[in-house]
Amino acid sequence: MPILKVESLDVRHGLLPAVRHVSLAVAEGETLALVGANGAGKTTLMRAIAGAHKPSGGRIVFEGTDITAVPAHERVRAGIALVPEGRRLFPELTVEENLLVAGQNSKQGHWNVESVLDAFPILKPLYKKRAANLSGGEQQAAAIGRALMTNPRVLLLDEVSLGLSPLAVEGVYHSLQTLIAGGATILLVEQDLGRAAAVATRIACMLEGRIVLEGAADSLTRQQITEAYFGLNRRVANGVGA
Ligand code: ATP
Repeated sequence: MPILKVESLDVRHGLLPAVRHVSLAVAEGETLALVGANGAGKTTLMRAIAGAHKPSGGRIVFEGTDITAVPAHERVRAGIALVPEGRRLFPELTVEENLLVAGQNSKQGHWNVESVLDAFPILKPLYKKRAANLSGGEQQAAAIGRALMTNPRVLLLDEVSLGLSPLAVEGVYHSLQTLIAGGATILLVEQDLGRAAAVATRIACMLEGRIVLEGAADSLTRQQITEAYFGLNRRVANGVGA
């Protein structure tokens, strides 16, 4: 059974349909990369799954329970953690405080300050520094660490490499590989197709609010993904759902 299922989801911004009849499923331990051009609806879909944006139709099912109407903070407690685009750390708080705030009232599990610092060693010397004084890559590591402190069952990562230097992207992805190897379940929005293909077990491509291609990462060619990304060859996905 998939841990997370999205069924015929519609999400609007006012009158604009940003996500249209999207269905997808994420199985435990897999990394599903959501790719697509700017404005395709990826962020809106992630925010709807996290409970930050109310859908106008369809269902979100988490561990077999319909959570479509469940408020965002309860979804965090249930095990859904979003690392939003732009990171959104508390800038005046230190790395330590950012982690501890997220850890309050969270489920018990593998993730605590110590294990987060082990997964993101870049944070160790920065632990007492204010988030505002960190570089983009350091902030991204802290933002992922903060999400992990809630001991999520599913981690939603929105554009983790956006605005980072190539070296910083390398560092963040190195740590992500460790999480993935440890069995984390991840839904990842990534603009860089190469990066997405390298870490994902499956890839779903969005175009104008719809999923237009979906399949196992090792079964899709770069050309298929690029065509779907730009809408050059519209087709319905193979293997939708897990
Ligand atoms: P990007 O890579 O640029 O973040 P995206 O694939 O994540 O793109 P969304 O940000 O979800 O796409 O945007 C989907 C559509 O919804 C776009 O047409 C966008 O202009 C629109 N949109 C996004 N946020 C808002 C908002 N707050 N108000 C109105 N329209 C919005």
